[in-house]
Amino acid sequence: MSEEKSLNFIEEIIEEDLKNGKYKSILTRFPPEPNGYLHIGHAKSICLNFGLGIKYGGKTNLRFDDTNPVTEDTEYVDSIKDDIRWLGFEWANEFYASDYFDTLYEYAVKLIGKELAYVDDSSSDEIAALKGTPTEPGKDNRYRSRTIEENLQLFADMKAGKYQDGEKVLRAKIDMAHPNMLMRDPILYRIKHAHHHRTGDKWCIYPMYDFAHGQSDSIENITHSICTLEFIPHRELYDWLIEKLEIFPSHQYEFARLNMTYTVMSKRRLLQLVNEGHVTGWDDPRMPTISAFRRKGYTAAAIRDFCDRIGIAKRENFIDLSLLEFCLREDLNKTARRVMAVLDPVKLIIDNYEDGKVEELTTENGPDASMGTRIVPFSKELWIEREDFMEVPAKKWFRLAPGAMVRLKSAYIVQCDSFVKDGNGNITEIHCSYFPQTKSGMDDGSISVKGTIHWVSAAHAAEAEVRLYDRLFTMENPMDAEGDFKDTINPNSLEVIRAAYIEPSLTKARLDDRYQFIRKGYFCLDKDSTENKLVFNRTVTLKDAWAKEAKKG
Ligand code: ATP
Ligand code: MG
Repeated sequence: MSEEKSLNFIEEIIEEDLKNGKYKSILTRFPPEPNGYLHIGHAKSICLNFGLGIKYGGKTNLRFDDTNPVTEDTEYVDSIKDDIRWLGFEWANEFYASDYFDTLYEYAVKLIGKELAYVDDSSSDEIAALKGTPTEPGKDNRYRSRTIEENLQLFADMKAGKYQDGEKVLRAKIDMAHPNMLMRDPILYRIKHAHHHRTGDKWCIYPMYDFAHGQSDSIENITHSICTLEFIPHRELYDWLIEKLEIFPSHQYEFARLNMTYTVMSKRRLLQLVNEGHVTGWDDPRMPTISAFRRKGYTAAAIRDFCDRIGIAKRENFIDLSLLEFCLREDLNKTARRVMAVLDPVKLIIDNYEDGKVEELTTENGPDASMGTRIVPFSKELWIEREDFMEVPAKKWFRLAPGAMVRLKSAYIVQCDSFVKDGNGNITEIHCSYFPQTKSGMDDGSISVKGTIHWVSAAHAAEAEVRLYDRLFTMENPMDAEGDFKDTINPNSLEVIRAAYIEPSLTKARLDDRYQFIRKGYFCLDKDSTENKLVFNRTVTLKDAWAKEAKKG
């Protein structure tokens, strides 16, 4: 946005920290867990973290929070890197929490040595039973009083693989009566005999989030560790561990996660949609993932603009999907090439136009001449949109109807003389005559009409499949559904047009090109396209159809 914006609360903190010399420069990080593809909520976090690094001349690390071997995969690592780069950001360092496993192990040993951690043989049920409730204190168990020597030996044995999954855990020794439940001797390490995507079979004990995240921040000297509100209760433990380990004092700050209407934003749920076949994959254009938005034709500039406009909040809220679409239209309106494509074709025949004649007409690529011009072929038989003809015209109908005139974009004014129907009453041909003196650019002004419609020359058009998308869910917040959130999936979220007709220039479309099919919306080529079959996605409609529906009531 161009107007001056006031600082958000994190910028205020950073400016204060730089002014009073707490830090010479700032270092932020984006810490995804590689257990799925990034979604638009992550884009918010990326724009925030990288944006702060850029704004304050600092740096931003990419750190994979890969401490859970079971759900993580290198496919996700690669997609995450692609998405961040596509959004327009570059990290200072690529790190992995798993690179710190040795250091974290040493940290745990140090805590044991300070009598601040112990090995607990309880099952998870037993641990839960003694944890207390928010209003009742928990209770110490008999393992809590183990000696340092015993704990060191048992922890070494855990690491050496002497025990099965779940047999033992390492816990911090804090206070079982602490008012913050997370401080009641939280688990630091658990046993998991599982193959890790990077460390292979080296480890069978893995640190918990709380014992990996803050420590990784500290190892990297992160100054401002920004996360979402649900981590507020974790901050006390974050600070406790850093203090007791006497390591670099990173600080955690929390902001409200981005929630958006008509979608879900949790990798776990998105994975369900993929695995259960509700969508074709993580990049199905109906998904809220960055890769899906990209495939659908969204631009990185529009997503960055959106993240900027919503700002950062300290309280949970829902952002309307239409704001993202607004940002997208703003960008595409400036950059997308205007072309002609007919999605629901009916034949228009100009009876007084010479058989076999082809005119190469010049038409503009943009809303004005700044994007240049191109040539479109014009001939006797054209395809036009079925909806641009009305057998019995409505009031104020400025398009085609028996006896009515309309301009064919960048070509001539035509008048409808007759039409042909098939046995089922469907119109199959519209017959017109054209007025040679009305050629665009040379029009003598003798006839004037109010409507202009698009068309493609039947002999020159290419056939394409066009996919039209709608919201994936029918409810603003699918998580409010009484049953399963998947029961609110919109059955009409995808409409496939098998045979649309596109102007010949579109056969050269590339995946990164953005188009406006004039009067129809913004479109882009889909990766499913082959040499024999082009597929286009509708990125977004020209106007917000849902806003119109809502107004109608
Ligand atoms: P999910 O619940 O979707 O799996 P997550 O928080 O587990 O998300 P991570 O990979 O751990 O996903 O997230 C990486 C970073 O992105 C974290 O700092 C997290 O706080 C942030 N983040 C995740 N979801 C959102 C969101 N909806 N809005 C803003 N930031 C988010
Ligand atoms: Mg997470």
